[in-house]
Amino acid sequence: MRAGMVRAKVCSKCKLKKPASDFSIGTTFRYRKRLDDYVKRTKLNSECKACITKRVTTWRKANVKRNMVYQSKYHRILRRQK
Ligand SMILES: [Zn+2]
Repeated sequence: MRAGMVRAKVCSKCKLKKPASDFSIGTTFRYRKRLDDYVKRTKLNSECKACITKRVTTWRKANVKRNMVYQSKYHRILRRQK
């Protein structure tokens, strides 16, 4: 077993301990002064997949109206350009 491998993680949202497979992997870039370079690192998300799905669904529901306004505005701009 490699050191630093995450087997289980506590979700920052629901505070439940879940296996690493329940978290999606995100990419972050870290600047290393000594090497003057950015190091690409993969990191597990702090929220589990279930919480992210829930958040996105809630956000979508709350923003349906706003999205519709935005989209109609966007189409108007497209039509004007033609
Ligand atoms: Zn969660």
